[in-house]
Amino acid sequence: MADPWLLTPGPLTTSASVKQAMLHDWGSRDRAFIEMTARIRKRLVDLVHGGDEMVCVPIQGSGTFAVEAMLGTLVPPDGKLLVLVNGAYGRRMVEIARRQGRAVAALSCAEDQPCDPEALDRALREDPAIGHVAVVQCETTTGILNPLERIAAVTLRHDRRLVVDAMSALGALPLDARKTVFEAVAASSNKCLEGVPGVGFVIVRRDAIRAAAGRCPSLALDLHAQHEALEANGQWRFTPPTHVLAALDRALAEHAEEGGSAGRLGRYRENARVLVEGMRRLGFTTLLPDELQAPIIVTFTMPTDERFVFERFYDGLRERGYVIYPGKLTTAPSFRIGCIGRIGRAELEGAVAAVADVLDVMGVRLARPAA
Ligand SMILES: *Cc1c(COP(=O)(O)O)cnc(C)c1O
Repeated sequence: MADPWLLTPGPLTTSASVKQAMLHDWGSRDRAFIEMTARIRKRLVDLVHGGDEMVCVPIQGSGTFAVEAMLGTLVPPDGKLLVLVNGAYGRRMVEIARRQGRAVAALSCAEDQPCDPEALDRALREDPAIGHVAVVQCETTTGILNPLERIAAVTLRHDRRLVVDAMSALGALPLDARKTVFEAVAASSNKCLEGVPGVGFVIVRRDAIRAAAGRCPSLALDLHAQHEALEANGQWRFTPPTHVLAALDRALAEHAEEGGSAGRLGRYRENARVLVEGMRRLGFTTLLPDELQAPIIVTFTMPTDERFVFERFYDGLRERGYVIYPGKLTTAPSFRIGCIGRIGRAELEGAVAAVADVLDVMGVRLARPAA
């Protein structure tokens, strides 16, 4: 039976050719695999136009492992981190820093509001102890886009260092190291890059990673040690996820074939448009206004009609071949549908038709907007 379409923010639907790329075994110390690792690292630096000043350090695990490695390795033990928080992933960075025993402060705002560069400006003026600022480019909790360029400009003006969680953004939303100054950015294989899950990576300034010896409280997540090993002989410190990397290598080639991040963003924009317009026609409302919404994942407010039972809605969509995100991360009653992965207009139109069908079966009639 065919796999369902995954309308989730990772793992997501991958192409057949990405899946097929995993049908081999690689020796992790073998030349072919060493070359593949080098090729992937180079391609990822090129994605952000990092030039010779930046280097990509991959790390085994999911995206959170990469974020934890980035914070643990770059924030010095006597440093202080300020995290901009407007959702679950910002909160997670605060928790990570706390567990690492680092001094950390949160600058929080409501989850339907973008992080505020002016509030950051005041916070940095008031607290000279803050050396690093962390922000999530697209907060996947709601799908909100944070004003990364303005946050980077404020951080630079105060001569502090910016680290970015671009997990659900890199490979689609723009990030250009020639225009936006940041020390490091973390992302993973299985979101906008459309690989399979199992590896994260940090693209970091060479001078920053070289200066970070012995800082990380974790052995396995020590990005400096990982970097040293890779630079020394091209090999990973511990068993690498060989098949996942082969899939990522293929996925990066397909990303380039699609026209890079701009090409991919174009398809995701169209996906999001088809989804949002279709859902609005059915009477759903989005949590965010269109100007704050990134075309990655869309949050819809939960209908108040008591015949709308989310579990039945989810199961009905699953039976029709669409997997949506089963849980909410927002504090507002809501559910989310993703627009990323190897899906296009036909799949999003199919999903909207399935939603209409399931509403009918549940006997839910939403107030349609006036024509
Ligand atoms: C997915 C995601 C992560 C990492 O999640 P994992 O489940 O560890 O892969 C981190 N930050 C953001 C913004 C994400 O969307």
